[in-house]
Amino acid sequence: MALRLYNTMSSQIEDFRTLREHEVRMYACGPTVYDYGHIGNFRSFIAVDMLQRFLRQSGYNVRYVMNITDVDDKIIRNAARDGVSVQHYTAKYEKAFLEDSAMIGIEPPRLVRATEHIQQMAEFVKKLVEKDIAYRTEDGSYYFRIAKFPAYGKLSKKDFGGMQDGARVEVDEYDKDSARDFALWKSPKPGEASWETVIGPGRPGWHLECSVMSMEELGETFDLHGGGEDLVFPHHENEIAQSESLTGKTFARFWFHVRFLLVEGEKMSKSLGNFYTLRDLVLKGHKPSSIRYLLTSVPYRNQLNFTFDGLKQAAVSVDRLRNFRQRLTSGNFLPGSNPEMQSLAAETIARMKAALDDDLNTAQAQAAIFEMVRRANAAFDANEIKKEDVPPLLAALEKFDEIFAVITDDDGPKMKQVFDWAPTEGRENDISLELREAVESAQLTDAAIEKKIAEMAAARAARNFQASDALRAELTAAGILIENTKEGVRWRRK
Ligand code: AMP
Ligand code: ZN
Repeated sequence: MALRLYNTMSSQIEDFRTLREHEVRMYACGPTVYDYGHIGNFRSFIAVDMLQRFLRQSGYNVRYVMNITDVDDKIIRNAARDGVSVQHYTAKYEKAFLEDSAMIGIEPPRLVRATEHIQQMAEFVKKLVEKDIAYRTEDGSYYFRIAKFPAYGKLSKKDFGGMQDGARVEVDEYDKDSARDFALWKSPKPGEASWETVIGPGRPGWHLECSVMSMEELGETFDLHGGGEDLVFPHHENEIAQSESLTGKTFARFWFHVRFLLVEGEKMSKSLGNFYTLRDLVLKGHKPSSIRYLLTSVPYRNQLNFTFDGLKQAAVSVDRLRNFRQRLTSGNFLPGSNPEMQSLAAETIARMKAALDDDLNTAQAQAAIFEMVRRANAAFDANEIKKEDVPPLLAALEKFDEIFAVITDDDGPKMKQVFDWAPTEGRENDISLELREAVESAQLTDAAIEKKIAEMAAARAARNFQASDALRAELTAAGILIENTKEGVRWRRK
């Protein structure tokens, strides 16, 4: 089986076919770098990350481009408010975006910045003017004449039959029902960043940025374009209008949209107090791997309701996977192989692939790996896993982690970064006890922990219970959980 994917353009699940054999050219709308990214933004970015990971796992060569919107209405307003240049203002949040993306396990796409493509954008407008598709207004702004693009509305399935030719809208994000000529290029206003170009001074509109940069990077027609569901209209509709009216060709073949994240059942908003950046959650002591796991646990087109209970369950799930891998890599196994374990590993790999081929059904893929862990753990307890079963079981975990990226434990250093960042933004009081503990535990190396555990055992053997209790308390305070099992003392980080 091969990938089948929902295409917003056809409103159907289709066979995913690329224009060039073995190669996917894809583009996702990236962040507007005017603030720290929230977990809703990261639901969308992670969904596209998983898609590109799965395409690569399926054998495609993937060219994946994402833009950084580093000039727009909000950025200009905030930079002016703070009395700094646009570049100075956006540099901080672009850096934060890159750090957060790495923290949440996103593989870096090729990133392109709007401010580095201004001249190409002006050229693009010039060509639209030459075709009489764009027009200039008295103040030196340029608008797209949507009456010239009869297919307008084909992505969002809006019927703009009664639209009024020449009615205009200046802002980038607007009312869902308005079909108006939209701004391609905005004339300079006092105090705003602007550039000198072939069409005069000014700055690009948001929609134009993505059309120009995606086609420059990937060609006039490419395979897939994605983003959150709010981008269908007007952003993507406008990108299509601009690009296709210029080239006369299909702009992107597949349109991939991620459903909006809810938090505790409601739309996330600052006024409701349910608005979280990634860093807010880490400050509360949650691990990046738990956050990623939760954000991947619901297929991208279904509603995902983010709750703190869900986040705790996600942490338990990640721990189960990590503990299982630990058991496999550190256990002693009898020689030989158990056909049941061999087929379990093979079936799991096949089930995960079938799930992801089915419009990226991440929930089914997770169910498959947990079924394997449950059955293999039972076999382990009954001494029924043999030496030759270990590599295939590990391979299934590896396949899972190529997409989900939660099993390798690098939470400690990532949490330390947030811990170190907090005081630089005056947020040291938001550091929770849980985060403090996690950071302290991460600073203890495995060898140091083993040494303390050995000292504990020695103290107990010498009946010095005070010393052994003190060592145990020290490890517990650093978030190390110690368990006495029949195989000896086992420990893990909380
Ligand atoms: P922005 O930085 O606002 O331009 O948004 C960056 C990306 O995050 C876009 O693809 C948005 O569609 C997406 N996005 C914004 N809010 C949410 C949300 N609550 N859930 C999912 N995706 C979102
Ligand atoms: Zn875009």
